[in-house]
Amino acid sequence: MNIALIAHDKKKELMVQICIAYCGILSQHNLFATGTTGKLVAEATGLKVHRFLSGPQGGDQQIGARIAYNEIDMVLFFRDPLTAGVHEPDLFSLLRLCDLHNVPIATNVATAEVLIHGLARGDLDWRDIVNPKE
Ligand code: PGA
Repeated sequence: MNIALIAHDKKKELMVQICIAYCGILSQHNLFATGTTGKLVAEATGLKVHRFLSGPQGGDQQIGARIAYNEIDMVLFFRDPLTAGVHEPDLFSLLRLCDLHNVPIATNVATAEVLIHGLARGDLDWRDIVNPKE
């Protein structure tokens, strides 16, 4: 599965911690991330992370383009609800694309844990059947 990781600045530490906690599961999948989030996760976990541009430079849109092509199977987008104002359009755009393609997206750590457990249990395997990758 292809998993996208994005975290606003105040949520980056949380993203790193969840990636450390679920390193064993995540290591069996392909990870993609916006620039800074990906750098921090890769450094802290040793996981291989394909990094796009930093979010404000267009990394969110690069991930959005992959979702539009149905190439992403799960998104963890830890947004900062207290300073989300300027980032709101990015989130709405990603949510819309995820809804279009039935891509599960978590915007907080509680939902992320449920999705990661589901991923490990095979709950998302249908995506490989409906949408096989080369
Ligand atoms: P970043 O981007 O990981 O490059 O900081 C995330 C964001 O959209 O703020």
